[in-house]
Amino acid sequence: MASWEDNVRKVVPYVPGEQPKEKNIIKLNTNENPYGPSKRVLEKAVELEKLKLYPDPAASELVETIANYHGLNNNQVFVGVGSDDVLAMAFMTFFNSGKKLLFPDITYSFYDVWAELFNIPYEQIPVDCDFRIKAADYYKDNGGVIFPNPNAPTGIAEPLSFVRDILDHNKDVIVIVDEAYVDFGGESALPLIDEYDNLLVVRTYSKSRSMAGLRIGYAMGNERLIKYLNDVKYSYNSYTMNMPSIILGKESILDDEYFKETVNKVIDTREWFKGEIEKLGFSCPPSAANFLFMTHSRLSAKEIFETAKANKIYVRYFNKPRIDNHLRVTIGTREEMETFLELLKSIV
Ligand code: PMP
Repeated sequence: MASWEDNVRKVVPYVPGEQPKEKNIIKLNTNENPYGPSKRVLEKAVELEKLKLYPDPAASELVETIANYHGLNNNQVFVGVGSDDVLAMAFMTFFNSGKKLLFPDITYSFYDVWAELFNIPYEQIPVDCDFRIKAADYYKDNGGVIFPNPNAPTGIAEPLSFVRDILDHNKDVIVIVDEAYVDFGGESALPLIDEYDNLLVVRTYSKSRSMAGLRIGYAMGNERLIKYLNDVKYSYNSYTMNMPSIILGKESILDDEYFKETVNKVIDTREWFKGEIEKLGFSCPPSAANFLFMTHSRLSAKEIFETAKANKIYVRYFNKPRIDNHLRVTIGTREEMETFLELLKSIV
């Protein structure tokens, strides 16, 4: 190794779900929403002739629209390039005590990657045998807490009382609730941000808003938290939000009817599909997300994953302890799920 390599930051990167180049596939592997953005968003795309200009570094129109939608002030909202960017900024901004950041062992697999990248000590706390996070495990001294609610890849949502319990026992650190999937049936911690100035709630456009390709995420919390996040952002890259994200992101929020309609379609399809796979002997925890975390007592998840792929159906398989006989299956359209169901029937 050349000597300069001694001083390179060496990390084990996060592995995103596969984005296949193959045509005519059924893609149920990265929790996208099959319905696409509202027509209003697509119509707004014609305004993009302004691209020669720099975008508004504060993304004010988008921030204001999101703030109004949630009944907040503009200074309670921070926007970023997908919630991955928002979360990475939050890790950089808030977890600097030198104490361990706490999060579940079965959860979004980017948390440990950011912790490693930013040299944040951390502890992954085992969820119980039903994959539930136990609030009491988070009562100990720590440098911060983060968890998704609903959790991923399990889909399990904990009630607001659970979040409050964690907050009541963690008043001196920042607690981040990653609500990437909350619109599909979870209970949001947003009503608690006025009561707890150390709570940051993070959302994304990638799932319920069906706009994963645009990359928009946002955080909501006390104005001091948001100011600290903005200070870090402006010390790194002032123009994180590109002009299409600002214009089209705003338009998506304005078409609430379409948003609710497509989210409800996903929920209906999820519940129907869950009932059908249970008849085939699969089981999965109750999901409040746009995916199911399914397992079968007799069949190998890895083999189903491979057979599905050979049939041009992509689902997610994690080769990790405790979950290596589960599949995480995104809820696609009813037709896509019917095709997958037929395949499962033939396998069973
Ligand atoms: N949080 C969780 C729990 C997720 O599953 C994902 C999706 N990979 C994200 C955050 C990031 O989503 P995005 O960057 O597309 O907003």
